[in-house]
Amino acid sequence: MNEQKTELKKRHNFLDFLYWNLVVSVPFITACIAIAKDSTLWLLVYIITCILLIMVIYKFYCTHCPHYIQSPKNTKCMFFWGVPKFFKEKSGPLSLLEKTVALLIPIVILLLPLYYLLLQPGLLVIYFLSVIVLCTTLRRYECKRCIYTQCLVNCAEK
Ligand code: SF4
Repeated sequence: MNEQKTELKKRHNFLDFLYWNLVVSVPFITACIAIAKDSTLWLLVYIITCILLIMVIYKFYCTHCPHYIQSPKNTKCMFFWGVPKFFKEKSGPLSLLEKTVALLIPIVILLLPLYYLLLQPGLLVIYFLSVIVLCTTLRRYECKRCIYTQCLVNCAEK
């Protein structure tokens, strides 16, 4: 059978941004509901920590991404739209530190609300199912046509 080559996606549009943020919002809101049932203070801590950790990813990982580099002043990609480029863009491969950040921070973000989710097994199931949907859909529809070839999970045909 003749397998069709997937074309690389050179730019994301606003609908991509809306779609992926909706997908991400499911586990995020589920975690927020689980925490809010117990403590408003920890909900605030959770939200602020998520924002700070995402900024760390933005600095160490996104600054190498072609979508970051090709945006003039504000990043426009599937996850960020109009976010200022606070950090200097970097071409070339990711360093060991940057690779470690790219792998570890998402795991930390994923596990942050675990204590509160374990108190509510129904929300825990929704949380992990929605994370699985997010990861598998990303892999299936974005990673194999992504232009960020330095990314550790990129699987676009070379
Ligand atoms: S596409 Fe991904 S790696 Fe590239 S700037 Fe956006 S969030 Fe960062």
